[in-house]
Amino acid sequence: MDKLINNTTISLIHGDITIVKFDAIVNAANSTLMGGGGVDGAIHSAGGEDILNECKKIIKKIGSLPTGEAVITTAGKLPSKFVIHTVGPIWRGGRNNEAQLLMNSYNNSLKLAIQNGVKTIAFPSISTGVYRYPVQEASEIAISTILNYCKENNFEKIAMVLYSKDFYNIYAQTFETILQKWDGVKKVCKL
Ligand code: ADP
Repeated sequence: MDKLINNTTISLIHGDITIVKFDAIVNAANSTLMGGGGVDGAIHSAGGEDILNECKKIIKKIGSLPTGEAVITTAGKLPSKFVIHTVGPIWRGGRNNEAQLLMNSYNNSLKLAIQNGVKTIAFPSISTGVYRYPVQEASEIAISTILNYCKENNFEKIAMVLYSKDFYNIYAQTFETILQKWDGVKKVCKL
């Protein structure tokens, strides 16, 4: 599903983030940046060792990546140019600042993208795998944070790449619901 919101195309894609071609894709990493399971493992194994080597250099400098923060590396052998690694919150019932931290992951990834001249960016559904964030709540935070950025018109395209059809359907429903009451929208077109 593609919609033009102001000057940014917002896309929901059902598929695998390692095969899409964007200026940057976002990795739902953990604070060690050493790879892991889920989308993190898929990105490292498809992208090759250049990604891990850059991650190691970053960790040498900063120790570990705090939850909600983001860093950028090459995308190695992936079709995209960069990987932005961010650490989403682990769901601990919802009263441990999870919503703010998840919002920070999206905001800091978008901010870092802008600083690196990224015009097109794709996100996975951060925190909704091993970190167990409920997907309905996570989709509301992802979509509303992304829509806020469209007010500034900095991106050509922002995509959410959803690995399962169920998640795709939840994100699509959330997108429609939020758009109906969104005050930042000057123009919405179905593409
Ligand atoms: P987290 O630790 O942040 O929960 P996970 O990788 O476990 O990260 O899950 C985050 C989301 O990424 C989940 O919704 C999962 O279904 C999805 N995912 C797993 N592999 C891929 C992939 N190749 N492309 C896109 N999304 C993926």
